[in-house]
Amino acid sequence: MKLYISMYHYTRDLPHSRYPQIKGLDITLFRQQLAYFKRNFDVVRMEDVIKASLGYSTLPERALLLTFDDGYIDNYTYAFPLLEEFGFQGSFFIPGKTFSTHQLLDVNKIHHILATSEINNLVDELLKLLDYYRGTGYDYPSNEELFSKYAVANRFDNKETIFAKRILQTVLPEKLRNRISSDLFREFVGVSEEQLAYELYMTDEQIRTMKRHGMFIGLHGYDHYWLGEIDETDMRSDIDKSLDTLDEFIDRKAWVMNYPYGSYNESVIEYIKDKGCIIGLTTEARAAEIGKDYIFALPRLDCNDFPPKSDNWINL
Ligand SMILES: [Zn+2]
Repeated sequence: MKLYISMYHYTRDLPHSRYPQIKGLDITLFRQQLAYFKRNFDVVRMEDVIKASLGYSTLPERALLLTFDDGYIDNYTYAFPLLEEFGFQGSFFIPGKTFSTHQLLDVNKIHHILATSEINNLVDELLKLLDYYRGTGYDYPSNEELFSKYAVANRFDNKETIFAKRILQTVLPEKLRNRISSDLFREFVGVSEEQLAYELYMTDEQIRTMKRHGMFIGLHGYDHYWLGEIDETDMRSDIDKSLDTLDEFIDRKAWVMNYPYGSYNESVIEYIKDKGCIIGLTTEARAAEIGKDYIFALPRLDCNDFPPKSDNWINL
């Protein structure tokens, strides 16, 4: 049974927003996309996918599931009313930290640095900071070595952008990453991290409202860590914390995991299975085959893989 899973992050009125450069789906295009899905697909609910994956039922011919990552408030203000208008269910995967402590996730710090700076200026500043902190209790390769290793374009970003993302997301030790991200955030973004966190994420009341209106809520970690890369103790405690913060929104015996950055490994899967998880979503870009694909590692397509952005879905 083929299942297309479309993945969304920011969904907002981009040209009229404070950060028009943020990588998101403009709301006009989102409406067109939903209209396209209505004509060409059968938009299914997560509950249908769960039943089909357990063998209790089948999915319609061209089944499609809508998934929203990271708990952004624009999913509530813009996407949720449109989903209601079309009669579609969205599945929202919300990092526990965003609505329980209102702290800015690293991933969003980096998105906003990228959205407010010119990429070559940013890379220059980043290289300067790498020189500044090198040897001050932190040890890492030369700038030339780092750049040749990590500046590799992918299907979404050019090589400079990937370089900045990799350095700030995974390459440097966590403490230093946070320090450099905060330096760059102060220099380029111009609001406090706290202010941005309060404008960026849904509140628990908003999550509750969506749930009451039939939307599905799932896990996306607590701190939005690369779960497949951190050590076992940190991975377990991140999952425990995310289960505790999302407790009222999920079924502890049948919940769905969406791995931040699509990062997981065998011990992550072992642990979440033990804790009642029944489906895992990755970022591998292709259509899923329910009944054939490993249910803890279902692939997803990006919303940019569908019209009006592109026709990539046909070949994925
Ligand atoms: Zn995420």
